[in-house]
Amino acid sequence: MSEKALKLMFFGAPGAGKGTQAEIASERYGIPTISTGAILREAIAAKTELGVLAAGYVESGALVPDEVIVGIIKSRLAEDDCKNGFILDGFPRTLAQARAFDETGIGLTAVIDIEVEDERIITRMSGRRVCRDCGATYHTVYNPTKDNEHCDACGGELICRRDDDPEVVKHRLETYHSETEPLRAYYEEKGLLRVVIGQEKLEDTTALTVGVIEACL
Ligand code: ADP
Ligand code: ZN
Repeated sequence: MSEKALKLMFFGAPGAGKGTQAEIASERYGIPTISTGAILREAIAAKTELGVLAAGYVESGALVPDEVIVGIIKSRLAEDDCKNGFILDGFPRTLAQARAFDETGIGLTAVIDIEVEDERIITRMSGRRVCRDCGATYHTVYNPTKDNEHCDACGGELICRRDDDPEVVKHRLETYHSETEPLRAYYEEKGLLRVVIGQEKLEDTTALTVGVIEACL
């Protein structure tokens, strides 16, 4: 890993918009986004060994076991495209995962915490759509595609994620508050935490996020 590598982690509740911001930053700074959620969804769709194991957890809104996730992240970060930096989206989600990451010695430039209230998340998630083919995410109101039915990037059909069902979203938020939110204090103590208040408009959140990243360069 090079000295100046930009190593970011996006942190926040499910549906806070971290995946979208991570994708934007990834393009802007030319570093890959590593989304554990996307890796799991791909594995589930392809019915690989990992997918079969993960499906029950993901579909009910529970977390996939730490050792599985840590294994995924370690092998992904060892790939060549990560040597100039990376963005972690959705990892770590537990203190055990954060500690396992620390043990790799890879280190981080900053942890960007995108904050949005639960009520807004629940309404937002009902409009979330994902491309069946390439996995790009959109929103019927906040980030629509040209025709609201197909992906702008690849033309694939837009679908709702099963775990975006309101009952499952509630469970995911509970899991977030109990398992993942404690990480905020963990990274604050290390001086890495940068808070971005999620805005109504996607571009406004992006502007704040870019400001935070530029301050790290
Ligand atoms: P969101 O951020 O909107 O919750 P993700 O795509 O990040 O969505 O994650 C979807 C699901 O994948 C989670 O609800 C969980 O079941 C599983 N998952 C993703 N990342 C992790 C992780 N780091 N640890 C455990 N489970 C994970
Ligand atoms: Zn697509």
